[in-house]
Amino acid sequence: MPPSSHNITSSDLFTDYLVIGAGVIGLSIAKHLSDAGKECLVIEKQGLFGEETSSRNSEVIHAGIYYPQGSFKARLCVTGKHQLYNYCQQRAIEHKPLGKLIVATCSEEEEQLSLIESKAQANGVLDLERLSQAQVNALEPNVKSTSALLSPSTGIIDAHQYMLSLVGDIEDASNAIVYKAEVTGIEPTANGWTVSINNQGEQLTVQCRWLINAAGLHANALAELYMTDVPPIHYCRGLYFSYSGTPVFQHLIYPVPEKNTVGLGIHATLDMAGQVKFGPDTQYLDSIDYQMPVDKALAEIKAKWAQAIKRYFPTLDEQKLQPSYAGIRPKLSGPNEAAQDFRIEGPNEHGLSNLIHLLGIESPGLTSSLAIGEYVLQLIDQYES
Ligand SMILES: Cc1cc2nc3c(=O)[nH]c(=O)nc-3n(C[C@H](O)[C@H](O)[C@H](O)COP(=O)(O)OP(=O)(O)OC[C@H]3O[C@@H](n4cnc5c(N)ncnc54)[C@H](O)[C@@H]3O)c2cc1C
Repeated sequence: MPPSSHNITSSDLFTDYLVIGAGVIGLSIAKHLSDAGKECLVIEKQGLFGEETSSRNSEVIHAGIYYPQGSFKARLCVTGKHQLYNYCQQRAIEHKPLGKLIVATCSEEEEQLSLIESKAQANGVLDLERLSQAQVNALEPNVKSTSALLSPSTGIIDAHQYMLSLVGDIEDASNAIVYKAEVTGIEPTANGWTVSINNQGEQLTVQCRWLINAAGLHANALAELYMTDVPPIHYCRGLYFSYSGTPVFQHLIYPVPEKNTVGLGIHATLDMAGQVKFGPDTQYLDSIDYQMPVDKALAEIKAKWAQAIKRYFPTLDEQKLQPSYAGIRPKLSGPNEAAQDFRIEGPNEHGLSNLIHLLGIESPGLTSSLAIGEYVLQLIDQYES
């Protein structure tokens, strides 16, 4: 069932809570506001929900293994994972807890596995299992390793079905999402905010008490409209290649991440139909560009990827690697800078009343989305009580 589209009419020109962005984060926030009986409006510049980063990712439900202890990423991923599995079960959203293997291919990487295990434990991820080479072989005959860590609570989800369900929750509460409506101006008022919107060529203004900026890759640019000292955004693209033919793995297969890299290494994930895909890699860009490489650039990337993948999948057939799609991470850290946490900031952090913004919501944003929605609702309730 396609989502209902909604036009802004003069009776809509005030709302209590205005959420910018119908990606998985804006939708989860609006779902939590709706469940709490609050009146809200979601403004989305694309013609449908989830057209940007929320539909250009790996669709992996992460366990919460790698993030620094106590960070938003660690806490919200672990809580969000449990909430997401429960929500998927309640709403019959397609998902599979396939499990993931982090595979070591030499003694140095085996030491890394121990560090990863301790980090996971510190984050409350207590279900990791150390597997011997023989145990890995029994589970995944195509994988070459010296040993591995099995994360049973890592899985995959149909992100589109998930977002469609969130849209249903919002609309069931008589709240609306307005598509093809781009926020172009934000001004403070005595009681909240005035938001200027270009709705298919028509200029409108909406008054709201609370404004929530969940605009993903564009959140920092929108923040420039209401504050100074906005952290710069860095666009970091990840490419995916599908692997044609019958599935060669049953689990998600990740190499041990190389030290000082921004990604997790070229790994293998599966989609709901069992199709294997490899990626994403990491490449910083000056602007948003989803184009897949062609010709010489494509050949070079395939050769580089093949070398990385063959370390754990020696029988890779390069001919079966087909360019698939790209996603762009909204990173707050640039090349060679330390990874940064999500920035979910309210009045205490940025000094502006009745406003929450979410910057740098890269991975594990999909997994954390329900926990992020819950956190934003709690933040608002804290100021309103
Ligand atoms: C390559 C890659 C792989 C990833 N893999 C995973 C994974 O496996 N698991 C996981 O948990 N996470 C993963 N993530 C992270 C996850 O995809 C994101 O954290 C999440 O999708 C972010 O959602 P969002 O709603 O913040 O952003 P978006 O989905 O980008 O939504 C923002 C919305 O705001 C709208 N918008 C922007 N500006 C305006 C404006 N001015 N007016 C109105 N609307 C506006 C946009 O059109 C967009 O729809 C991955 C990310 C990438 C890039």
